[in-house]
Amino acid sequence: MTSTLPIVRQPVDRRGSTEVTPTLATPRLELDVSVAVDRFVRLAAALPGTGVHYAVKANPHPRLLAELAAVGCRFDVASPAEVRAAVRAGADPASLVYSNPVKRRDHVAEATALGVRLFVVDSLPETVKLAEAAPGCQVLSRLSTSGEGSDWPLSRKYGCSPEEAVRILLTADRLGLEVAGLSFHVGSQQRDPEAWAAPIVSAARVFALLRDNGLSPWLLDLGGGFPASYDGGCPPVTAYGEAIDRRLDDAFGDHRPETIVEPGRGIVGDAGTLVSTVIGVVHRGGVRWVFLDAGVFTGLVETLDEAIRYRLQTTARGAETGPCVLAGPTCDSADVLYEQQMVQLPLDLAEGDEVRLQSAGAYTTCYSSVGFNGFAPLPTRITGPVAGVS
Ligand SMILES: *Cc1c(COP(=O)(O)O)cnc(C)c1O
Repeated sequence: MTSTLPIVRQPVDRRGSTEVTPTLATPRLELDVSVAVDRFVRLAAALPGTGVHYAVKANPHPRLLAELAAVGCRFDVASPAEVRAAVRAGADPASLVYSNPVKRRDHVAEATALGVRLFVVDSLPETVKLAEAAPGCQVLSRLSTSGEGSDWPLSRKYGCSPEEAVRILLTADRLGLEVAGLSFHVGSQQRDPEAWAAPIVSAARVFALLRDNGLSPWLLDLGGGFPASYDGGCPPVTAYGEAIDRRLDDAFGDHRPETIVEPGRGIVGDAGTLVSTVIGVVHRGGVRWVFLDAGVFTGLVETLDEAIRYRLQTTARGAETGPCVLAGPTCDSADVLYEQQMVQLPLDLAEGDEVRLQSAGAYTTCYSSVGFNGFAPLPTRITGPVAGVS
């Protein structure tokens, strides 16, 4: 099977065949922070009244965090290091949501000492741990979801049933914690705006049961999952906002809680371009293999199982394209980006040409190995308003 990834050819200034346009070293991530700020503004506008907490794990670049904090974005964190990064960026620690449902005990204590107040759990033992390590903190219980409709599901590892959530939160109350409410995550790169419907209905049931037991849950964390612009496309963010608003109205009516979201990919995905260079083209058994200097171990982990399909641009100029396997530079056989569904690239693509992977700002630099097979971690170059390398 071959895909029809859209190729946007970039005009490159190559005066004469031997003259190479000077470029920065590849691979690198070019990050335009102003695009992430724009995505934050659009998401906040699509979900009026909902607090937006950027999930730091998607891309923790300090410049990104600082500019997001400056326009009123809050943060979702999962470790003391992420707490400190958010605080350095200007965040109030009391505004953070610490969303890792199973945490190191000393990390809970450390985060509490740094000023974090709101934590997520999805089990009774973790609730007891919180009561011991962060007495009196606020707690959300995370509901499981199907993950259906998403390209990178997060459903298997975390989450409890509505019945367990009731037990957990009643226990939390008995242990002296403040019951804030519930959280869930519908799966990353969620293509279906209606994916929030089922967990919102479950959440309304749990909130009603808790009220019956004399508690006053007040916060619903709608998680992340908002999409970046990969191959195949997704509905606009306004469609997500409208669907979520309608479902909240239907399920909660007059009892609508405060809401927050935790977008990672939907904020920073489109802000990055991963620039790589072709290091070799090999024809093998009638199949063209294109090897890049970036791969699964240099930031492209999400191509595993070909889950995330980046849009590609090249500097090759030929109009004719054909299918090829796209592979990374290490000697690990897992270091193949797209093979089951090959990509269409120009037939004249050759060593030295650039291949740019679009919308690669999320889950790339931070997923890069520290030096597998001697290949350095993926660096970031800030582009747009303020340039620089880090
Ligand atoms: C990773 C993660 C997010 C961000 O998810 P995206 O799909 O990138 O928006 C949000 N919340 C939690 C708890 C996460 O683990």
